[in-house]
Amino acid sequence: MRVGSERAEKQRAWNEFGTECVVCESKCRDLHHIDEDTRHKRWTNRAPVCPTLNEHIQRVSDDKTYGRLSLIIPTDHASPGTLSDRGDDHFRKGRFRRAYVCYRLGAYIARKYLDKPNEALILASKALYSLRPAFNMELAVEVLRKEVKTLLADSKSVSRLTDETKLFLCREIGALYFGETRLTESEVWLERGLRIARNGAIPGDGVKATLGRTSQHKGFVDLFRMDATGLKHLERADDLLGEAGYFTGPANNAQHRAFFYIKCGEIGLADREFERLFLHYSTDLRTSFFDGHLVNAVDSWGPWLGCGLALCFAELLVRQRKPGRAKSLIDSAITVMQDRGIRTQGPIVCESTQRFCDRYGRTLPFGLADRRSWTTFDRIVEWAWNVLATSQTRGFVLG
Ligand SMILES: [Zn+2]
Repeated sequence: MRVGSERAEKQRAWNEFGTECVVCESKCRDLHHIDEDTRHKRWTNRAPVCPTLNEHIQRVSDDKTYGRLSLIIPTDHASPGTLSDRGDDHFRKGRFRRAYVCYRLGAYIARKYLDKPNEALILASKALYSLRPAFNMELAVEVLRKEVKTLLADSKSVSRLTDETKLFLCREIGALYFGETRLTESEVWLERGLRIARNGAIPGDGVKATLGRTSQHKGFVDLFRMDATGLKHLERADDLLGEAGYFTGPANNAQHRAFFYIKCGEIGLADREFERLFLHYSTDLRTSFFDGHLVNAVDSWGPWLGCGLALCFAELLVRQRKPGRAKSLIDSAITVMQDRGIRTQGPIVCESTQRFCDRYGRTLPFGLADRRSWTTFDRIVEWAWNVLATSQTRGFVLG
């Protein structure tokens, strides 16, 4: 990866991560180097951190290096627990990049200074999780290379990982492939996760949700190709995801069925699907959409589903010749997507919505990751699997 000028790299970091401290929200004047190596000037290695948090990180590292007592200066701002909580908070509010920084810092501190490899890998997996709605290959590779790989290269650390943590990592890798429509790889990783769950006798909900998403994914792809077999996959996904309490899943299925029916010209069926979706999951949601309170829907449904659904629903309105309502819904969706850095995949939007947007000059935020750098991602995660698969997991060898 080419390194730009230091100024450009810093500017990129401010743009991506914000100018307030990721923990206490106070204004920052400088950026911290996440790996504490000032030679690494890429934006992906920088974090907006206030002087207090910086001091806390310093304190944790001094304790480790010089064996001082950590009681003199409190270090709780820099504890993995605090960083994890702040990350969760950012994520819930749609601040995905700031969530990423918190998780990465937490993973680094837990691994490097606190001798907590399991916690470190959970936080590294959470950092990958934070990339689901707005993927960035450089950030994904950064966390894989600097946290996951460093941690798994140490066999003592590997022996201290729990099955749940290994499963979490597999699930997130599978989810990132899934989000970028690399179906084969996604299935491979989710199946690996399932194998760990089975071997470790981990409770079923996560497994069912994972299985459900696999079926769901197959269904979406079939329906995108106008293959009605997809409806069967979605039925199975409805059951599994419902059982697992993954409520946005069946809603997502309804959205895709509606989308499929719209493309078939079955407007009545599409409308019924929406009706079922709204009535079943939230009676307020339809009102939310029309009152322009899409942010509410996005917060309760998850950002990419909320916006995807809004665009799909807008498509229905275009077809029903209700251009005023469609326009306000699209405007609202685009604003939310721009604010939160959400991009939608092309197939979510129908041609007629696209034409409608072109006509009144709105650009839909499309886009997938830069595919050039997948090679590194693929290589690191395969290496990681080799380590996990050959390590003993409660008496089983997973390979
Ligand atoms: Zn702070």
